[in-house]
Amino acid sequence: MLSRASALAKCMATVHRRGLLTSGAQSLVSKPVSEGDPEMFNILQQERHRQKHSITLIPSENFTSKAVMDLLGSELQNKYSEGYPGERYYGGNEIIDKSESLCQARALELYGLDPAKWGVNVQPLSGAPANLYVYSAIMNIGERLMGLDLPDGGHLSHGYQLKSGTPISFISKYFQSMPYHVDHTTGLIDYDNLQMLAKAFRPKVIVAGTSAYSRLIDYARFKEISKECGAYLMSDMAHISGLVAANVVPSPFEHSDIVTTTTHKSLRGPRGAMIFFRKGIKSVTKKGKEIPYELEKKINFSVFPGHQGGPHNHTIGAMAVALKQAMSPEFKEYQQKIVDNSKWFAQELTRMGYKLVSGGTDNHLIVIDLSGTQVDGARVETILSALNIAANKNTIPGDKSALFPSGLRIGTPAMTTRGFGREEFSQVAKYIDSAVKLAENLKTLEPTTKLDARSRLNEFKKLCNESSEVATLSKEISNWVGQYPVPGDA
Ligand code: PLP
Repeated sequence: MLSRASALAKCMATVHRRGLLTSGAQSLVSKPVSEGDPEMFNILQQERHRQKHSITLIPSENFTSKAVMDLLGSELQNKYSEGYPGERYYGGNEIIDKSESLCQARALELYGLDPAKWGVNVQPLSGAPANLYVYSAIMNIGERLMGLDLPDGGHLSHGYQLKSGTPISFISKYFQSMPYHVDHTTGLIDYDNLQMLAKAFRPKVIVAGTSAYSRLIDYARFKEISKECGAYLMSDMAHISGLVAANVVPSPFEHSDIVTTTTHKSLRGPRGAMIFFRKGIKSVTKKGKEIPYELEKKINFSVFPGHQGGPHNHTIGAMAVALKQAMSPEFKEYQQKIVDNSKWFAQELTRMGYKLVSGGTDNHLIVIDLSGTQVDGARVETILSALNIAANKNTIPGDKSALFPSGLRIGTPAMTTRGFGREEFSQVAKYIDSAVKLAENLKTLEPTTKLDARSRLNEFKKLCNESSEVATLSKEISNWVGQYPVPGDA
């Protein structure tokens, strides 16, 4: 029989041995990426450098806060929690429930919504899936929806299909989709035409929402049209949800049945989405019978288990943080600045002779109409990228080519986060003007042989990369913008 002391020694040796084994495995999970995966760390460092040394004008992008990043890289990501607060399919979710409930409560509070009349699902992974979940919740396959046409400023997830009727988004495969348009002369949503089309098409859902539209949306008019044809009004405020939160553009909530939004654009949160839906009594019949909204169950079921599995709890926690920030006076000030900067930027570009779709802006974005220049949006996007300026080529109303559209979409949320004001946006307008002029010159050097669109753009890109003028200006821009902080800078 072993003495007590030798039994203890044997036991300690086993623990020690196991400890050694564990510490090897332990080091795999406890090393920072800089030590554990230098190759990926290097890519991360390159992207950090690119973001800091670029002018981000893509209106759907932003620099989220340090606190949001803290949650995104947090332990909340380790937990499975299929279901909803209080009704999970996994154990150990008492704390995750607190996080999701807090996020829901803050979402309703931010938009001034009465929890008796509105609910919110904060689990959708992103904006396009959130829209699909709503359609699937309230439509059968083959039923009808109407959204703003993509070339006119709508989004793929609003049912985009080619003019020939070929579906592009799967949403237009699952459901019948008919687009409405902007008036090509004013660039504004053609509500009269929408009304006429909706009366004939009788959609089940009308989507009020845009990705490249610089004017305010008339939600009351959308409601009137939806009511007339018995459609649900779903507003997709993805681009403007920060502006809506701060009351610097009209809110869709008063007139909508459902509101969807991403959380990573002007709202400046993590990459995710929310679906708001009405609750309570929808209407009362002549005989006094109350007809309830039946959206809550359908939408929640459509999100989980209909389309998703476990929610991304780190994102939901990060969303809760962003929503708290969005209730602060500083955030309101930031949103007002986004719009002020955008209007100023538009004014500067107009002063320099550029034509803007709809003539200007009321929100965070501007679509430049380049049809009066010798270049298109694709070439300008390419040269801007070589100059460390990120912007989107964009169709303008009436455009024929999606590969070489005539527009350029730019916006102010991201650079306003980095502290840009009037002076800086005047400088950016000058850089854009220089880029257009350089692009016009470089285009004349392109080979005259017949090339398909992609090869032609590649030839242009090569010319940009070889141009000493582009190289000099690119360095100047990188140094200039690098002086402006990004969130999380030491
Ligand atoms: N809805 C609108 C209006 C958008 O502009 C976008 C994206 O830009 C989306 C939905 C899709 O969002 P996500 O890219 O997160 O799927």
